[in-house]
Amino acid sequence: MAGAWWRQWLSRFDPPAIPDVLWRRTLSACPLARRLDDDRQNELRRIAAHFLARKRFHPLAGAELDDRLRLLIALQACLPALRQGSTGLRGWREILVYPGEFKVRRSHHDEHSGVVSEADDVLIGEAWERGPLILSLADVQLDLEQPWDGYNVVVHEMAHKFDMLDGAPDGVPPLPEEISRRDWIVAFQRAYDHLSNDVARGRDTLIDPYAAEGPDEFFAVVSELHWSQPGVLKRADPMVAALLDAYYGPSPAPY
Ligand SMILES: [Zn+2]
Repeated sequence: MAGAWWRQWLSRFDPPAIPDVLWRRTLSACPLARRLDDDRQNELRRIAAHFLARKRFHPLAGAELDDRLRLLIALQACLPALRQGSTGLRGWREILVYPGEFKVRRSHHDEHSGVVSEADDVLIGEAWERGPLILSLADVQLDLEQPWDGYNVVVHEMAHKFDMLDGAPDGVPPLPEEISRRDWIVAFQRAYDHLSNDVARGRDTLIDPYAAEGPDEFFAVVSELHWSQPGVLKRADPMVAALLDAYYGPSPAPY
């Protein structure tokens, strides 16, 4: 039986299962995962086991990680992959974890004067194309304590990771067959233009104005809303909310 042989061959590559005690202890600390139904929780557990087997954590600057914290990061990183499965996690390996905010030196190019200057940006997370995922542990923990405030740094950076699976980030990740790429581009462009216009005019917005930084940031910020405050996203833009429902699966958030 060829099928059975393949299954047997593939099963040799199955990562070690997450032990029951660790799983239960970690699940109780992660409201987003705890509110999933049993089927999606089991799928999350399977994808998270792959994630832990394939990614390498590097605590930096005195950050301390244990199995529970690694799994808490893995759970939130794998939530957005529930629909696409572990293939969405490919192409990178390292996770750098700082205890809190971290500084990154950036070159800024002034288009008018042509002058290039250097400045430090203070970040809570960053995702490099084919490079590491970088996180502030304090902010990961804050998201676990305040899961429904509209923010989630791991989900934000993972959205960038998905977006970069097909090259430079542009707010359009590789999409499953059932989602039309054209529908996605039209809806996201319209919502992004709308937000940028409101931000430029100094109006209050339901979506964090940071999303107006670029289409890639827009996708990452609305992804946070999908998982953390889907009701706000639905009010801000029902089309984008429906597309993210299709892309990520329904949000477990209570409102
Ligand atoms: Zn971002």
